[in-house]
Amino acid sequence: MRAVRLVEVGKPLEEADVPIPEIGTSDVLIRVVAVGICHSDAHYRAGISKIDHLPLTLGHEVAGYVEQVGRDVTNVLPQDRVCVHYLVHCGTCEFCVRGLEQFCRSGQMIGKHRDGGYAEFIKVPARNAFTLPNEISFEVGAVMMCSSATALHALNKARLKPGESLAIFGFGGLGFSALQLARLFECRDVYVVDINPAKLRSAVRTGAIAIDAKAADPVEQIKGATVGRGVDVTLELVGSAKTMRQAVLCLCPLGRAALVGLTAESMSVHPYTELINKEVEIIGVSDHLAAELPALIEIARSGKLRFPPETLRIVDLDASQINATLQSLQDSIDYVRTVIRVTSDE
Ligand SMILES: [Zn+2]
Ligand SMILES: [Zn+2]
Repeated sequence: MRAVRLVEVGKPLEEADVPIPEIGTSDVLIRVVAVGICHSDAHYRAGISKIDHLPLTLGHEVAGYVEQVGRDVTNVLPQDRVCVHYLVHCGTCEFCVRGLEQFCRSGQMIGKHRDGGYAEFIKVPARNAFTLPNEISFEVGAVMMCSSATALHALNKARLKPGESLAIFGFGGLGFSALQLARLFECRDVYVVDINPAKLRSAVRTGAIAIDAKAADPVEQIKGATVGRGVDVTLELVGSAKTMRQAVLCLCPLGRAALVGLTAESMSVHPYTELINKEVEIIGVSDHLAAELPALIEIARSGKLRFPPETLRIVDLDASQINATLQSLQDSIDYVRTVIRVTSDE
């Protein structure tokens, strides 16, 4: 089968002809229809996130048709439309049995620790395959399993409640999903902080109040807009110490800051005046849970989570097109998600 693989860190991905994976009794083989190109894939190629073994087929945002199922598989059948939960986990350790599989000690991320979906076929454990309703396109089914799933997990971790206000720092793929999903929590005003005018315009079109961080201190702007109160919940999706600190400082008493963006920097907080005194919480958010995915799929099926055509770009399973996309992700600032269309879904 055809695959596009990372052969050497720091180099362009290469096309390869590799064997179709052989499945075990509890696995499924999926004929990939659509696979998202994620910012993390650009990090793997650039060597910013470490890859253990090469060559590796990238791609953790996968949707397609079940081609073949192992003997013990009961949750899906051949020809089912499916999307993939990207964390392969043991299912038996102390975390897995509590439904917290993102901490599984033998957990593997698809497209990082094992071959991913930039290929005609992918093998995954059956419990990682979720039925994709006909109302959801393969492209959306692919990208929602990463950015939207993590956005939903962040809102769940932050315990956003009806009537509460929210500020989203960074309006990329995660922010675009988070803003739509936040509405389903019946929250009040949502502020979107960014520096990119196109992203801020898109946020306003999606119902948010834009805060241009280039114009003035976003904390002051949010305090001003809330008559000095601040917001109940913040999501930090940028991954910088500066915005993380801002996400804490614009909270009201009992506010919760959910930090999702990755950075190697350290952030500083004055414990008494900025944390203890206000009983605010700083919450780490990592990936998402399999248990959250049925709700997410239902939200997308009912049309409450949408990716309008102008927010998705389609490329082929072609190394040069994929490399160009990874390069633009490394450099660029637009909120468009790129999806590889591997096969037609006819
Ligand atoms: Zn991703
Ligand atoms: Zn486990």
